[in-house]
Amino acid sequence: MIVTVRKDSDPALVKRELVARGLWVDVLEGGERTHLAIAPFSRAVAKEELLAIRGVESVSAPKSPHPRLDAMPRVIQVGGVEIGRRPVVLAGPCSIESEAEIHAIAERLAARGVRFLRGGAFKPRTSPYSFQGHGETALRWIREAADRFGMKVVTEAMGERESELVARFTDVLQIGSRNMHDYSLLKAVARLERPILLKRGMAATIEEWLAAAEYCLLHGASQVIFCERGIRSFDPSTRNVLDLGAVALLAKVMQLPVIVDPSHAAGRRDLIPPLARAAIAAGAAGLMLETHDDPGRALSDGPQALSQAELDSILRNLADTEAHHD
Ligand code: PEP
Ligand code: MN
Repeated sequence: MIVTVRKDSDPALVKRELVARGLWVDVLEGGERTHLAIAPFSRAVAKEELLAIRGVESVSAPKSPHPRLDAMPRVIQVGGVEIGRRPVVLAGPCSIESEAEIHAIAERLAARGVRFLRGGAFKPRTSPYSFQGHGETALRWIREAADRFGMKVVTEAMGERESELVARFTDVLQIGSRNMHDYSLLKAVARLERPILLKRGMAATIEEWLAAAEYCLLHGASQVIFCERGIRSFDPSTRNVLDLGAVALLAKVMQLPVIVDPSHAAGRRDLIPPLARAAIAAGAAGLMLETHDDPGRALSDGPQALSQAELDSILRNLADTEAHHD
C-alpha cells in the first residue's frame, strides 16, 4: 500500500505513526508529495486505519503480485491429511534405495504416527557421476510401501517429461531447490493438479519463491506448500543457511503453510534436532527429515541422514511441544 502524505504535514511524523502500528515502511521521495510505501511483508492493515492517521492525504493499494497465493486456503488437504494446522512430519530416505528398505522405513515411521513418506526416485545430484535414483521402479516401491502403511507419498519431479509419470505414483509433487526457477516445469507440474511442495531455490529471494508459487497456482495447481531448505552463503561450515526469518515471515505474517527441511539446510545430523525445534518455534507447519536405517551406507546424503533413534527423539520432542500447547 502506498500512503501519500499531505503537503503541509511532516512525513517523518506520519512514518512514525505507521511504524508504531508495526508496519514496515519505505520512504519514496521526489515530486511534490512524499509517499510512504508499506512493505508487502507487513501485517495486513485496513485502508481506513491508515486514512485516519493525521497527515495522510490518500491511500492506494497497488495490485498484489501474487493474487492467487493471497487467496489460497491456508490449510492444505492431501487426501484427507492436513498440512497447516498441527505440525506434520515428512520423512524418509534421501533416495529410495531398494524395495525392502523403503518398506522397512515406512513401517517404522507409520508406527510412530508419521503420515508422509518421502524419498527420491529421480535425484537431482550435483555430480553426474553420483547415484541418480532408481526412477520408475522406485516410484512403484514407495507407492506400495506408503499404501501398505496408510501413508502419503512425497517425491520429486525433476523434469517436464517425467512429471506425469511421477504424478501417477505420488500424493504431493515436490519441486526441488535446483528447479524452483524452471518455469516450464512449474507449469507442467501445476497442470497435474496435485498439491505441490515447492522448495526454495538455494539463492532465491522470498519474492521469487512466492512468484514461483503463483506460477503453479495460475497454471492449474490449487495448493502449494512451501519448503525452506537453506540458502547458499559464503560459509562452508554448514551445507546451507537455514533462513528462519523467511519461515517466520511466511508462517506468522503471511499465514502460509511452510515446511522446514533442516536435513538439507544443515547437511549434518548433529545440528538437525536443535534446528527442528527452532523451525517449529518460527511457525513451521512441519518438518521434512531424511532418515536411513544405516546412514553410513546411504547412497546419497549420508552425513545428514538421521538414524532411527535420532529420528525417534525428534518425534518425541515434537509430540512434547505439541502436548505443551494443548
Ligand atoms: C530432496 O529433498 O530430495 C532434495 C534433493 O532437496 P533439495 O532440492 O532441497 O536439494
Ligand atoms: Mn537429500
